Amino acid sequence: MALHSLMEGYLLSLCQSCHHQTGLMDRLAAFEIIASPVWVFDIDHCRVLWANPAGLQLWNAKDLGELRNRDMSADISPTVKSRLEQYKQDFEKGQSFSEIWTLYPKGRPTTIRCVFSGIRFDDGRMGMFNQSLEVLDRKESADSLRSIQALLHTSVMISLYDRQDRLLYANPAARQAYQDSDESLCSRLVDPTVHAAMIGCLATGGEAQCVAEVKTHQGVRWHEIVARSGWDPVTGVAALLVSEIDVTGREEASKKIRFFADHDILTKLPNRRHLEQEILPMLALAKAEGNQFSLLFVDIDRFKTINDTLGHSVGDQLLVYVAKRLQQAVRPGDFVARMGGDEFVIVLTTLKDHAAAVTFADQLSTILSRPIFIEGHELNVTLSIGVSMYPQHGDSFETLLRHADMAMYAAKESGRNRTQIFTPALQRQLQLKVDLETSIRRGLLDDEFFLLYQPRPRVADNNVASVEALIRWNHPTKGTLGADAFIPLAEESGAIEALDSWVLAQAAEQQKAWHDEGVDINVSVNVSPRQFHSDRFAATLEAVAKSNRYQVGSIELELTESVLMGESEEIAACLRDVRNLGFNLAIDDFGTGYSNFAYLRDYPITSLKIDRSFMGDLRPGCIAEGMIAICRFLGVRIVAEGVEDDWQLDWLKHQACDEYQGFYFCPPTEAHHIMDIIRSMKLRRGAGFDGTTNISHLDLKNSIPGTRLRPRGSVA
Ligand code: C2E
Ligand code: MG
Ligand code: MG
Repeated sequence: MALHSLMEGYLLSLCQSCHHQTGLMDRLAAFEIIASPVWVFDIDHCRVLWANPAGLQLWNAKDLGELRNRDMSADISPTVKSRLEQYKQDFEKGQSFSEIWTLYPKGRPTTIRCVFSGIRFDDGRMGMFNQSLEVLDRKESADSLRSIQALLHTSVMISLYDRQDRLLYANPAARQAYQDSDESLCSRLVDPTVHAAMIGCLATGGEAQCVAEVKTHQGVRWHEIVARSGWDPVTGVAALLVSEIDVTGREEASKKIRFFADHDILTKLPNRRHLEQEILPMLALAKAEGNQFSLLFVDIDRFKTINDTLGHSVGDQLLVYVAKRLQQAVRPGDFVARMGGDEFVIVLTTLKDHAAAVTFADQLSTILSRPIFIEGHELNVTLSIGVSMYPQHGDSFETLLRHADMAMYAAKESGRNRTQIFTPALQRQLQLKVDLETSIRRGLLDDEFFLLYQPRPRVADNNVASVEALIRWNHPTKGTLGADAFIPLAEESGAIEALDSWVLAQAAEQQKAWHDEGVDINVSVNVSPRQFHSDRFAATLEAVAKSNRYQVGSIELELTESVLMGESEEIAACLRDVRNLGFNLAIDDFGTGYSNFAYLRDYPITSLKIDRSFMGDLRPGCIAEGMIAICRFLGVRIVAEGVEDDWQLDWLKHQACDEYQGFYFCPPTEAHHIMDIIRSMKLRRGAGFDGTTNISHLDLKNSIPGTRLRPRGSVA
């Protein structure tokens, strides 16, 4: 309704303009007397504005008023509409056309050969001036009429060029795409060699086909072009018939697919696959020319912590930032790739020796050490970089990469934020670790590990209420190994997780066996820092706690101070969880790390074990004295480690220390000896034993491998 009244208003204004400015109508008056149909079409409003009497007849209209009122927009398809828009632009350039069109006056198809050109309306818009030359007989030339219609309305761009590449004809779809009406095919192609290739191809066969970039009205587009040799039906000269379809969408999608197959989506850097492809020609060239090149394995220090604490969005932005900086730092010919996670590889083809590569790596570290702000967080990035050189450190991509990775790993081990060049010694070290890890896993399967228990008697009466479980390895070739021989390496390699879980289960089982024999003994087990934070260990703890077999309240976990360092709220929550499961918690080797007494105040610690290094100096005012006083004040049980002499025990008695542990009483020993010790103590006590006698040597007839048992009285 609204549109209708708008049109009414528009026609009214046009009639009014006819009265006042007679320019258009004056010009048209001359056509009133022409015998062939002539009419003016308003493309914008899809209406005939004016027609001569022959035109009214063609349009099957009784008068001009009726024809003007006919809204033809419903009969005009979107393709025809866009063609008409194209004509409007062509008219602006002064072009006119002779084409065959089928009109539908009152729904009856009427095919005419007509000439049309532009006509300027009084309001400045461009309209269409049409003259019908002849009405064609539909029955006689049905096929040719249909083919003409198809050519006019198809979205396929069809054009005809002569041998000199001059445009002879372009259908409306082609005209819409072209920037200029008389462009040659060659000048429309972004790469002109494509034209020569097509012509070359046509010389040998009948058809040339390609997908090429073409300059169009909408900018550069991808067209699928098919060209065929033929003749111009008007002049008979040899011609090139070209059809084009816009395949930009398809091309871009497949380009994107190709891009992401060998690039990382986040940083847009080449990925590992791409690096593998690129490095092969680099290797071949270096081999042929006798050149060196270096491969840098770059890893962001503590990236996991950033990701875990500040979130993945910050982590992602950091990766993008680092990727950008790395790319800016290299020269043309060098190559940067993201291997995954926080690992990047740089191939430096322009730097020839170790020293230059290390200088470059250090510069990278300096650039990245400047603080960055992401989502309000100030981040200080440090890098661990491993370097391998071709050909000294390998002649294949895999070897160079593995060696640079090893060197990076060594850089991390020696404190991070550094660059390390690969050396064969590094490889040996790593091999040792790998071998150890494998043999630990195999040893666990083959039952090669066992536990010894070291009594922890009370200082006051030497009653053994607790023991510490200490691991030993019955190695098939190396004999029995003490904990120090493999625990540190097991911690580095990660094998410790399996070991500590086994120890906990074993110690709990032993505790239960003693309980079943009628003696309740507290057992403490060592937990490595790495283990403490692992999910698997948490699951083991829970399994032990939830099983009815064990008395969890009699199991103590010994943690070193390094476990307690870090984000205190998180650690406190973790420790509380363990305490809530029922386990006791001890700080082992206290005094060797940060020795922060706040741990005792802030965390639910049940015992503190003074490291044996403090047992050598027990003068008044010594460190051990201070430790005992503070523990007493905080209500934490205190255990002195490494007690080897009676004077040490005397001193501890004087300080009212709770428990002690050491060779003086007994070295680590087998489980059944612990029972013997406890039984014999009871017996002796019954026989008047004063409870302070060192009885360990009476019970341990044979020294146990991996312990340091010394004969009584050897200490001065
Ligand atoms: P730790 O937890 O401080 O264990 C005490 C160590 O001191 C034991 O060495 C024990 O044999 C030794 N020791 C006991 N009394 C004396 C003494 O009077 N004088 C001297 N010089 N040493 C004494 P061990 O069994 O060789 O264990 C060494 C370390 O290995 C342990 O220190 C502990 O940190 C670690 N460890 C032992 N077993 C395990 C385990 O199952 N898991 C983990 N994660 N670590 C373990
Ligand atoms: Mg311990
Ligand atoms: Mg200790």
